[in-house]
Amino acid sequence: MNDLWSPHIATLAPYIPGEQPQVAGLIKLNTNEHALAPSSGIADVLQSIDLDSLRRYPDPSATALRETIGAVEGLSADCVFVGNGSDEVLGHAFMAFFRGKPPLGILDITYGFYPVWAALYGIDTHIMPVAEDFSVPIGDLMQHRGPIILANPNAPTGIGIKPSVIASIAAANPSRVLLIDEAYFGFGCESCAPLVNSHPNIVVTRTLSKSHALAGLRVGYALAHPAMIEALNRVKDSFNSYPLDVIAQRIAAAAIADTQWLSQASSEIMTQRDALQAGLTECGFDVIPSQANFIFAKHRSLGGRFLFDALREQRILVRRWDRTRIADYLRITVGTAEQNAMLLKALRATIGNTG
Ligand SMILES: *Cc1c(COP(=O)(O)O)cnc(C)c1O
Repeated sequence: MNDLWSPHIATLAPYIPGEQPQVAGLIKLNTNEHALAPSSGIADVLQSIDLDSLRRYPDPSATALRETIGAVEGLSADCVFVGNGSDEVLGHAFMAFFRGKPPLGILDITYGFYPVWAALYGIDTHIMPVAEDFSVPIGDLMQHRGPIILANPNAPTGIGIKPSVIASIAAANPSRVLLIDEAYFGFGCESCAPLVNSHPNIVVTRTLSKSHALAGLRVGYALAHPAMIEALNRVKDSFNSYPLDVIAQRIAAAAIADTQWLSQASSEIMTQRDALQAGLTECGFDVIPSQANFIFAKHRSLGGRFLFDALREQRILVRRWDRTRIADYLRITVGTAEQNAMLLKALRATIGNTG
């Protein structure tokens, strides 16, 4: 069979997303979906969609959506690029900015998709270890010669870096691109979006999947200097001219325009995150303070695999990785107050049974 494939494809080790179980009744805290319902204004948009608008191709450059994003960010629409989820935007950015460049700097503990795009596009990488406490090695990043990708806050640790620090990494070498993946925008980490006009080598990506409770919609975007957006458009228009359908463009614009929803929903998640952090600490976990809608935590005596399996048996899904440095950690999405209480109850039952 592999003989019929392009040879490169046989070498790929694709990204494996968290499980989307098809069985009902699980408490799903494994893929950082938002715990709350999205903006209620979306229902009216769905009602108002005219069937005839589906007969036609969508606006290939999603102008109305880009204008809405620009208005909210205080940027012009030509500083905005949109795609089918930020994973697509990131994939295009790898092609647009990293291919044929010196090796791409990637942290050892970060979003697992970065090395996958690098392998897909034949991009060399330079893996840079985070410190013992998972903090980001700023000095190493300053000195790295090639482009750099950072999730800010980082995944799966939830640790954020300040925009002033990112600006100094960018300024240390203006001839390399610094891609800042803000997938967890809105949960307390300060954004680098205000830097893109003054720093043409900074590209910021965002998604509606986490901050706006719209993982099912598949909309992401990039904010950057117009010259950088042009490179992304070249890749997009060499791949798929219509990445966002008519419905997604309209729903995304309505969701982003509802800035009140974002601030209320984010502050509710941050309140629940604080409570969950306190509950986990009480259960014997060491918790890394998070600026995302998840918590990365390690129990002081029980192993990660054991706890993951014990929770699964109690119908609660969390995420973990069989990787050195983080094998004993659980990454737990912040749920509703009820879900978080059920999680803590299940953990207490498990811990009680071992002691
Ligand atoms: C979830 C996530 C993404 C992907 O988001 P989509 O827009 O749903 O594709 C990208 N980067 C990080 C760090 C994420 O956690």
